[in-house]
Order: sequence, then C-alpha cells, then structure tokens
Amino acid sequence: MNSLHERFSSIKNRIERASHAVGRPDGSVVLIAVSKRQTIEAMAQLASLGQRDFGESYLQEALDKQSALADQPVGASIVWHFIGPIQSNKTRGIAENFSWVHSVDRPKIAQRLNDQRPIELPPLNVLIEVNIDGEASKSGVLPEQLPGMVDIFQNLPRLKLMGLMAIPAPGSSDGFCRLAALNARLESPLPVLSMGMSDDFEAAIAAGSTHVRVGSALFGPRQ
Ligand SMILES: *Cc1c(COP(=O)(O)O)cnc(C)c1O
Repeated sequence: MNSLHERFSSIKNRIERASHAVGRPDGSVVLIAVSKRQTIEAMAQLASLGQRDFGESYLQEALDKQSALADQPVGASIVWHFIGPIQSNKTRGIAENFSWVHSVDRPKIAQRLNDQRPIELPPLNVLIEVNIDGEASKSGVLPEQLPGMVDIFQNLPRLKLMGLMAIPAPGSSDGFCRLAALNARLESPLPVLSMGMSDDFEAAIAAGSTHVRVGSALFGPRQ
C-alpha cells in the first residue's frame, strides 16, 4: 500500500465498510483530502482519480495551490474546504476563495465571513467548531455555548450554517458520540458532522460522521 492510488482506494473502501457496518448507504460519508503541506503534484493526481473535496489549514498555502491548480484541467472540479484556525485578518481571503469553512469558532469571525462573502458567489457553507472536550489548548465553542452561537446565523444571510466540526482529545473515546448528541439536541439539528481523521475515521463514521478529514493516511507524511 504505498502508491497514492492504492491508499486512495483503500481509504474509500474502509469508509464504505464502516458505513455499511452501521447501516448507512454508500455515499453517505464525504471524504475530504487534507492536503496541507502536501504537494500540488499529489493533489492533482488525486483529483484526476476522482477526488473532489480538499481541506487546507493555512490560507496563503491554500491560495498558492489554488492558483497552481487553476491552470490544470482537474483544478476546476475541486471543492475547497478551510479547516484551520481563523484569525480575523484572514477572513476575507477565506470568504472569497472557499466553498466550506469548518472552523468558525466565534461570532466576530462569522460576522466578518458574512460581510466579506462576494455577492456573486453562493452563500458560504459553514460549520461551527465545538471544543467537545473543553481543552484549554483547542479552539471551538464550548458545548454549553453552542445554542447561542447557532442563533447568530439567523442574521447572517451570506452564510449557510450546515453543521458542526470537532477534534476530540486524544484518547477521548466518546467525543464523536457526544458531538452527535449535542447536534441532536439542537432546536433544528444540522445535516453535517465533520469528524474523524486518519487514525479514527471509522469510529467517527460509526457515531454519525458525514465528512471525514483524512490527511496522512491518504497522502503519506506531511512535508
Ligand atoms: C491536519 C488536519 C487533519 C488531518 O489529519 P491527519 O491525521 O493527517 O488525517 C484533519 N482535520 C484538521 C482540522 C487538521 O488540521
């Protein structure tokens, strides 16, 4: 299992198997290829194999890759997801160049993304990042802050609130289930749960993940 092609097939098979194991249909889990600190060549190869969704964590690196891939036929089909921490001075670049943002963690960032989303583009799909284990080192709203954060989106027409994202603490066995339960308790549960990475995406799928973010298991170690 060392070529990109083989790893891609293997990850897709594991996603289908994990989905079937809990009675979920084919195609109910979206694979996001996390390409931060991976090469443009590997991304282009994966795109030519049919991968559509790519996740990036650093704005400038992502913009460089977007312009490099724009020159290639596969580039136009890519759907870009921003998954990293967001500083206020990066919101414009994100609002203008991505289809999805997984890491909205405070009202100010949501407001800026809304105000800066270009009018000629469809509303930006956003997920609220939840600090599901209340770790001091992690960003994200605390579980008890979530309903208040959800309400803010009623007044942000350029954003489409689609769901929740979390990165449970290492060894947190039920973080995925707790995120799913938190969503189920919202007044209107959201359709997307972005959870699961290279080491734990099968457990995340068992708990209801709709979008898994897989980097190193797909591309190999980051540079
Ligand atoms: C880097 C990253 C990933 C992918 O991590 P792997 O362990 O390489 O699969 C997923 N989600 C976020 C938010 C990341 O920053």
